[in-house]
Amino acid sequence: MKVTVIGSGYVGLVTGTCLAETGYHVCCLDVDPRKIEILQQGGIPIFEPGLEDMVRRNVAAGRLSFTTDVAASVAFGDIQFIAVGTPPDEDGSADLQYVLAAARNIARHMTGYRVVVDKSTVPVGTADKVRAAMAEELAARGADIEYSVVSNPEFLKEGAAIDDFMRPDRVVIGVDDERAAEIMRRLYKPFQRNHERVLLMDVRSAELTKYAANAMLATRISFMNELANLAETMGADIEQVRLGMGSDPRIGYHFLYPGVGYGGSCFPKDVKALVQTGKEHGHTLRVLSAVEEANDIQKLRLVDKVVSRFGSDLSGRRFALWGLAFKPNTDDMREAPSRVIVDELSCRGAEVVAFDPVATHEASRVMGGNARLRFADDMMKALEGADALLIVTEWKMFRAPDFDAIKRSLKRPLIFDGRNMYDPAWLREQGFDYLAIGR
Ligand code: NAD
Repeated sequence: MKVTVIGSGYVGLVTGTCLAETGYHVCCLDVDPRKIEILQQGGIPIFEPGLEDMVRRNVAAGRLSFTTDVAASVAFGDIQFIAVGTPPDEDGSADLQYVLAAARNIARHMTGYRVVVDKSTVPVGTADKVRAAMAEELAARGADIEYSVVSNPEFLKEGAAIDDFMRPDRVVIGVDDERAAEIMRRLYKPFQRNHERVLLMDVRSAELTKYAANAMLATRISFMNELANLAETMGADIEQVRLGMGSDPRIGYHFLYPGVGYGGSCFPKDVKALVQTGKEHGHTLRVLSAVEEANDIQKLRLVDKVVSRFGSDLSGRRFALWGLAFKPNTDDMREAPSRVIVDELSCRGAEVVAFDPVATHEASRVMGGNARLRFADDMMKALEGADALLIVTEWKMFRAPDFDAIKRSLKRPLIFDGRNMYDPAWLREQGFDYLAIGR
């Protein structure tokens, strides 16, 4: 079986590379010639642990290739994965222009049966739109060629993407015909460890499953953030509460961490898109609207604390900020809370010196226009002469820093911790003023 992956971003590149790793021959296509050039030269255009080695290994073995040539990529794979972006439209719904453009390209060039697999996160009903777009292109060519459209949403997490893909909790496949079902079952055989992980279902259910899962995770975060804010006011410690809640197996410990709000390329846009889908079909998704609103407020929680301490005019103040990426182990800056925090601090006149172990390059691309923001190439250097330290992303390297050195570098021993990384009692004993979330 040969596979083409359309879109060589976080999802497409991981999908293509992991499929090649198990022995398939894979061709990855992208419209961005810069990305393809980097890949062809043996580099990777994103940060994802373990991915660069895996790409190199599979390219060297002749199983993985990269191209910008649409016709060649359509000719290559019996299976055509669509893994392009689905950013939010103005009204919050998913913008399907890239998905449909990819589908049309397939129909324009295909000469034999193809399984077209939607890996992008797309609203219910998208497979019908993909089918219709392909039918239109084929009709324009006067061609009568069979194809199947399958939904196979991706659940990988940036930062742990390879492990998630190679050892998935489940593989959701929405398929309406037996021919494609058999091909997809076979494709994913190498990823079944000791038991069946493929969940076959109808296409619409598969499309909705992805949104449902992300919306649930976002809900847990907003729920914990609101509780954290309450705990803080009531003199309770949300970290104790979290442990007490999580020990109930119906709740579980995962995804119960309060912080500065969720970000990234998925939760914000998927929650918005699901709310919008509801609206379009006469269902008000009240819980999810509240999840979004709570998240917007939470992104400013740390700044609110800074303002309570220093006043609303922050001119002449300088803050060190640790962590720019929306979460650790990625350079992804899409919807990162750090962007809102830096904007708000600088609007109030403060300067920010930020450090992130991998996202600085990406951050300077998306935030470089901000004259009040500088980037430090060392976490301790960011602190020099700052009025306080703000922690925004919980990178491992921030877990046990040299607190004496921090104290020496800052103007005053003050830490605003948006990720609850330290023990408040111990830090206070060391002479720090320590403000965290919900405790
Ligand atoms: P991305 O922006 O990193 O990558 C998309 C790529 O598609 C880009 O490189 C772009 O140049 C390319 N592209 C756009 N149109 C194209 C076309 N017509 N032909 C070929 N290439 C084209 O996006 P991503 O983060 O990989 O996300 C892709 C999809 O997967 C989205 O729907 C997203 O919601 C979903 N998803 C993302 C994650 C994640 O963690 N990033 C996880 C699960 C699902």
